[in-house]
Amino acid sequence: MHQKLPKEIDPLRLAQNGLKLTGQLAVSGMPRLLQSLATDEGIVDVDLAFDVDEINTPFMRGKFVTTVSMTCERCMKVMKVDLNVNCLLAMVTNERKIEGLAEQYDPWLLDSSDDVLLSSVIEDELILSLPLVPRHNEACLPASDWSSADETVADDEEKVSPFAVLATLKTKK
Ligand SMILES: [Zn+2]
Repeated sequence: MHQKLPKEIDPLRLAQNGLKLTGQLAVSGMPRLLQSLATDEGIVDVDLAFDVDEINTPFMRGKFVTTVSMTCERCMKVMKVDLNVNCLLAMVTNERKIEGLAEQYDPWLLDSSDDVLLSSVIEDELILSLPLVPRHNEACLPASDWSSADETVADDEEKVSPFAVLATLKTKK
């Protein structure tokens, strides 16, 4: 049985009922994802199936397809990036249960019985699938424009920035 995408969901109840949800979400409604994008254009095709497996683990199988705009780190022009995400999340209500999960699952820790903002779950999966260093596949700049110095600087930035971001997050807590 297919239903339209609700704004908020109760994942455990959906799993118990074996429901499927399909629909579309605008990238412009995902502020955390937008931080990595060049524009807010893009529509995400969402396909979700909720169920309970043979050992009673509730899970969500998700497929998210979209095209977003990112800035190429080599030529600094906006480029299209196709995202095609498949996820299989097992719902756990207790961190200690994560260890016992079957291998095929990624854990989805549910804090409470509160409803979950559906777009936020999808946003997390899309963020994880973004290329760390977006670059055109083709040589977007003539080779004569690449200097070894530029490449070195770029590599340093790549190594430093994720940790710098993490450090900021930690100090905020
Ligand atoms: Zn480029």
